[in-house]
Amino acid sequence: MKAMVLKRPCNLQTDRSPLVPVDLPLPVPKENEILVKVSACAVCHTELDEIEGRTPPARFPIILGHQIVGRVEGSGRKAGEFRNKERVGIAWIHSACGKCKFCLGGSENLCDHFRATGRDVDGGYAEYAVVPGDFAFRIPDPFSDSEAAPLLCAGAIGYRSLRLTGMQDGENLALIGFGASAHLVMKMVRHLHPDAKVFVFSRTESERDFARELGAFWVGSFDDEPPERMHCAIDTTPAWKPIIVALTHLGKGGRLIINAIRKEEVDKASLAEMDYPCHLWMEKKIQSVANVTRKDVDDFLRLAAQVPIRPEFQEYALEDANQALVELKERRIRGAKVLRIH
Ligand SMILES: [Zn+2]
Ligand SMILES: [Zn+2]
Repeated sequence: MKAMVLKRPCNLQTDRSPLVPVDLPLPVPKENEILVKVSACAVCHTELDEIEGRTPPARFPIILGHQIVGRVEGSGRKAGEFRNKERVGIAWIHSACGKCKFCLGGSENLCDHFRATGRDVDGGYAEYAVVPGDFAFRIPDPFSDSEAAPLLCAGAIGYRSLRLTGMQDGENLALIGFGASAHLVMKMVRHLHPDAKVFVFSRTESERDFARELGAFWVGSFDDEPPERMHCAIDTTPAWKPIIVALTHLGKGGRLIINAIRKEEVDKASLAEMDYPCHLWMEKKIQSVANVTRKDVDDFLRLAAQVPIRPEFQEYALEDANQALVELKERRIRGAKVLRIH
């Protein structure tokens, strides 16, 4: 099968072709796994963190990609109920132990044995992938393959982030950064909390225009002053200054959720601007989002089908994965980027 693989960590500033095309044998599903013929795989910012070594793959070479839609082409004897040719999705959660206190308590995203698709095992930048049947998702009908792919991480982790804010209708939400995940959060909020106002902070003009088109109440850059205080905020950026920006504008008891697997080191010095009375006093809270549970993905797919929440997306050929990654790095983004494979 054709695949794009990462052979070693790279600096995307200097190496604009981190992935190389290769021909690999078809993966063979284990007893509990299904074999999936990949039709679409969306591109996530986490791939940049893997390539640049901030959350390094477990081994090299590795096939990246964890927002996979495809069809079942084979299965092990104990792989569950999926029919041949049935459409399925694979998300970031490849597996968890199922036995620890986190798994048993509904927090399998925190399991010590959490394994991630496209980092700890091969992912979806390829013609085929395997996954345990228990960790594959049925994809609701309303979506095309390319529409469904970004729902599996950008959507599902956006959903988890929004849930963790504890947001109520009528409240103000700040979205800091406006990429694939944030644009889906905006669509969720408009449905779930019709009287809420969404304020979007972004450092690129194209993201700000996109946020206006999707109905943001207010749009600005990091240095602009919004007209109201926020009840909650979600930061999806790889930088540190947005944490200060969010905390500056949060009101009393405000909640900041950081939806980023890693932050880059570049502007870490901006944390020195942190002022206790302005940024933290009055019971402001900060919480990160780690991974997703299967319930997050299932619940979000059901919600997305019911609304429906359709991502805006741009398609690329598998061979053009490097171009999609470089554009993501340079924040040339409008919604989600999807590799179209079959
Ligand atoms: Zn992701
Ligand atoms: Zn566990």
